[in-house]
Amino acid sequence: MKIKYLGTAAAEGIPAVFCECETCKKAIELGGKNIRTRSQAIIDDKLLIDFPADTYIHSLQYGIMLSDIKNCLITHSHLDHLYPKEIYMRKTGVFAHISGEEPITFYSDQSGYELIDTVIKDYSIKETDVALKKVELYKPFMVDGYEVTALRATHDPLSSPVVYLIKKDGKTIFYCHDTSEFCDEAMEYLKNSDVSVDLLSLDCTEGAKNTTYSGHLNIFRCDAFIKQLKKIGVVSEKTCIVMNHFSHNGGSALYDDFVKIADEYGFEVSFDGMEIEI
Ligand SMILES: [Zn+2]
Ligand SMILES: [Zn+2]
Ligand SMILES: [Zn+2]
Repeated sequence: MKIKYLGTAAAEGIPAVFCECETCKKAIELGGKNIRTRSQAIIDDKLLIDFPADTYIHSLQYGIMLSDIKNCLITHSHLDHLYPKEIYMRKTGVFAHISGEEPITFYSDQSGYELIDTVIKDYSIKETDVALKKVELYKPFMVDGYEVTALRATHDPLSSPVVYLIKKDGKTIFYCHDTSEFCDEAMEYLKNSDVSVDLLSLDCTEGAKNTTYSGHLNIFRCDAFIKQLKKIGVVSEKTCIVMNHFSHNGGSALYDDFVKIADEYGFEVSFDGMEIEI
């Protein structure tokens, strides 16, 4: 499996949309990996994860034909992960001219499901254009040959947050955004499973800032949490660990600064356009 990070920032982006803080000014000056758009990833160039407002620019930047995308997993309903109004553009006829009748199917827990459902209803979008499925927590389901399991994330409960285990050909990617340390129910599920992860993509919104904030993580808490995951066999020495989802409010938020800190822990640091094959 291959994961490609299309966008690696939290809600505001880096530089943030309306911001003149030092981090944002420096990001503009340095450019390159220091520029981060809103969260999105794609597995094997076909299974999309999240649908932020930046989806359109990602499709242009990385040459992704969105009309070819048949499946999209939504982690939760925050704006940097789901911009439902854009789904209106998938309505065939005036907005999209697509050959074939296969829809794009969105998978989401409650809050995202409701937002997408509202758009489908408000704009009378046909099932052959957009399909919608509600995920059932801890129940694996198949998506185009991938076995996907949604676990409850620790994040704003109103956004119905989930993290996804994605398995194929004996490999597993664990996409964990946005979340802080897992709740008992998610840990219990993992303890009782035989899940062993090849790639862990973990929330590091706070960067190297020492915070106790619930809903996101910093690198110190990531490290402690990863040790817990190692104890229960979910993560091993072989697991590729990627810090992802950064905010200009985090400590050492710029890629160039943060990568030096992450190096000491043996963690990879995501950047827009990064690809990892496992
Ligand atoms: Zn986010
Ligand atoms: Zn800023
Ligand atoms: Zn969020």
